[in-house]
Amino acid sequence: IVDVTDVHKSYGKNEVLKGIDLQVQEGEVVVMIGPSGSGKSTFLRTLNHLEPADSGKIVINGWDISDKKTNIDKTRETIGMVFQHFNLFLHLTVLENMTLAPVQLGKLSQAEADEKGLALLDQVGLRDKADVKPTTLSGGQEQRVAIARALEMNPKIMLFDEPTSALDPEMVGDVLQVMKDLAKEGMTMVVVTHEMGFAKQVADRVVFFADGKIQEQGTPEAVFEHPQNPRTQDFLNKIL
Ligand code: ATP
Ligand code: MG
Repeated sequence: IVDVTDVHKSYGKNEVLKGIDLQVQEGEVVVMIGPSGSGKSTFLRTLNHLEPADSGKIVINGWDISDKKTNIDKTRETIGMVFQHFNLFLHLTVLENMTLAPVQLGKLSQAEADEKGLALLDQVGLRDKADVKPTTLSGGQEQRVAIARALEMNPKIMLFDEPTSALDPEMVGDVLQVMKDLAKEGMTMVVVTHEMGFAKQVADRVVFFADGKIQEQGTPEAVFEHPQNPRTQDFLNKIL
């Protein structure tokens, strides 16, 4: 479902991605860890072309986005993305935030989008918040709405960039629970996170990123218990 080959990306003289290869299978949960500035966010953003890669090949959900002829908007409709900050529209209600894109794009009628939106809010435990404005929500609630909003588009894959790192500690669990449920349902997910508990419990594969390269990857057990690369060992010693 994701096939990345030799992707490079520089900002000026700063080479941030130095040849990334990564395959993700349908239904797989891949957790990316690594030091600050190592290029994790940049890589995630190249996957939906928020940052175009300088070179290399990226195929996602059957679309080759390194090919200039590919319709990027269509591709993006198949990719759900959740960031550290939730980017909800503050002047719209929770439900309106969720239904805006699918209705505007003509994917669902307003009634269909409303019905689906309410079901998704139910799924993330926020059915009763449908008609409030996001400003009245806690950070954790906002983030669950952001996840539900992404799901409203029926994505084939969900990308998460540190979805819990801006939250108060007591909010983190609820958001991680929503992500765990999603993984259990078989959603394909690529998750950048510092939540090692989540990685251990949910990841099929852990990818360690440093210096713009994938240094090591494997099952959570392999990477956390028996890291082969000294950089991984060093990183894990610092955070665990
Ligand atoms: P963190 O864990 O802190 O989120 P990260 O692994 O996500 O770090 P990136 O945000 O991908 O790292 O940044 C990698 C490098 O690219 C950094 O040196 C950063 O300064 C640089 N960078 C990122 N975005 C831009 C940009 N838009 N313009 C210039 N440089 C950038
Ligand atoms: Mg980042």
